[in-house]
Amino acid sequence: MLSKISIFRHTKHSFSNEIKHRLGRGYLHAARLYTEWFKQGDFGSLTWVEPQALSLVQEIIENVECAFPQEAIVKQAGSTSKFLLAVEGGWQTESVLIPMESSTTICISSQVGCRMGCAFCETGRMGLLRHLKAEEIIAQVVHARYVLKTEIRNIVFMGMGEPLDNYDEVMLAVKVLTDPSGLQFGTSRITISTSGKVDAIYRMMEEMSPALNLAVSVNAPNDAIRQKLMPVNRKWNMTALKEAMIAYCAHPRREILIEYVLISGVNAELQHADVLAEYLKGLRVRVNLIPYNPQSLDRFSPPKSEEIEAFMCRMKGHGYQTLLRHTKGQGIMAACGQLGNMSLRAKLRGLPISTKESMNPPEKKSLSVIE
Ligand code: SF4
Repeated sequence: MLSKISIFRHTKHSFSNEIKHRLGRGYLHAARLYTEWFKQGDFGSLTWVEPQALSLVQEIIENVECAFPQEAIVKQAGSTSKFLLAVEGGWQTESVLIPMESSTTICISSQVGCRMGCAFCETGRMGLLRHLKAEEIIAQVVHARYVLKTEIRNIVFMGMGEPLDNYDEVMLAVKVLTDPSGLQFGTSRITISTSGKVDAIYRMMEEMSPALNLAVSVNAPNDAIRQKLMPVNRKWNMTALKEAMIAYCAHPRREILIEYVLISGVNAELQHADVLAEYLKGLRVRVNLIPYNPQSLDRFSPPKSEEIEAFMCRMKGHGYQTLLRHTKGQGIMAACGQLGNMSLRAKLRGLPISTKESMNPPEKKSLSVIE
């Protein structure tokens, strides 16, 4: 028996084509069903269907997969919430809803775990367990909108995973998110965040709209520090990364959000800010400083507020628009760098459980050096 066609994997056009291909008819009715479903999260009362087309419409619906994912767990810390959705294989996606001044941003996962191994990130400790399919990425947004009834304005691919390591499925998800007959997000409301996968930055530049935002995790002023924090730097060093960013910014509509996780005793000194400012010269960028968040096995120290303030002032003094990402959701392991479930990984892989349940916040420790 043929598997059902997931409505979350398709734009209106590709969905209607799939139906037509499978049933030999029904393009227009499939297109209407697609639009109706995304209006309210179900097919509605079907009062628009002509009596003679009812059996065709029923046949289309029988071929469509549009169930909401099961087993959602929601954890709340203040106004920030994190929810987990079950995906095939016993794994879970993790997503975070972050209320901003007048809207909500959703931070979504593109993989379960991640192979990039950044030293300051809980997800990196899990390794890559599974790429998410486009429909599993979309399900996170659908769940937030129709089940949790959240009005989402911005979508950031900054949850579990390196989005550009799962390029095809992530970009398919972007197409579905921006379909004007479906979820209707503006492309400029979506941000793809990368650890610096240079080959995929070039690909994104060629293939995707310049309105799609790019964020690059730089996190260090030089190769020596970056190499210790981010293994990706061994493949593409900061020179290669800068060349890619220069090429990317050549389009007048493009600018890059530079992410910089501030870690006390590692990359948070004023001389680091000076070198970073020099490195970013010639690029159209904004800088987003992210104070390091504690993890289940901490190796680093969060910066003190004076360190953050001084670093930010220095970057502003160098002429960069610099923002501080306020830490939200630490108490439920929902803040930047904290997503990931080591216990589930251990259970499904038959490994010993070596850390505390990662939905629980870690005790704060003060450690400082990179091994
Ligand atoms: S920071 Fe991003 S790219 Fe690095 S390990 Fe974590 S999820 Fe992966």
